[in-house]
Amino acid sequence: MKKIVVGNQKAVLEKDSVLNFVKFFENNDLVSEVVICPSFVFIPYFEKSKFVLGSQDVSIKNGGATTGDVSSKQLKSMNISYSIVGHSERREMFNDLSTVIVEKISRLYEEGITPILCVGENKEEKENNTTKDVIAKELIDVFDNISKDREIIVAYEPIWAIGTGLVPTLDEIDDIVSFIKDFISDKYKKNVKVLYGGSVNSKNIDELNKTVSDGYLIGGASCKEEEFLHIIEKCL
Ligand code: 13P
Repeated sequence: MKKIVVGNQKAVLEKDSVLNFVKFFENNDLVSEVVICPSFVFIPYFEKSKFVLGSQDVSIKNGGATTGDVSSKQLKSMNISYSIVGHSERREMFNDLSTVIVEKISRLYEEGITPILCVGENKEEKENNTTKDVIAKELIDVFDNISKDREIIVAYEPIWAIGTGLVPTLDEIDDIVSFIKDFISDKYKKNVKVLYGGSVNSKNIDELNKTVSDGYLIGGASCKEEEFLHIIEKCL
């Protein structure tokens, strides 16, 4: 079954590497089903590419006098279809609280952009067996306060698995992904797709594919052309 593949390139690449990346995928029709989230500054390089475009974040404001921000209207005008919100790096480093995430999702909905909401536990929370409590709170804080009838994708990204080479066992992923789906379906009467993210690479994709059915949010491996292509081929 086809999966949703989303590449989150974070602030990893610089201009020459981005141009090489775009060129590498220039004639590849597969990527017309892959969402790429480049740095804001490099989005124009992807305009003529076949990728579906996503952003890594969005402003809480409507645009105008908001120095340094990028509004949902601006994203829409660059054909952005998806936007990551609530990534753990933004929650931790930029204090993106749930209230901020709710505002961002509202701005995205005003422009018809689909949010990809990241949730997940850190190492300590996992060790304390509080993963489901943590995720339930992250979901409630957001889902209680957003429009119920709009599309949203959830990404389960255990913080301890991001960029570390560590991945949960297949049973653990299955358990948490099912928990998220059931929780949202029971409480909000909504079916959502749940992506897995955290150290996905060309070596573990076959194994992950045994249990992950909806798709992936990929960081480091989405910055390396061959590596990313290999993963895409295994998912589409
Ligand atoms: P890595 O794939 O580099 O672990 O990053 C995952 C991630 O944070 C995607 O949003």
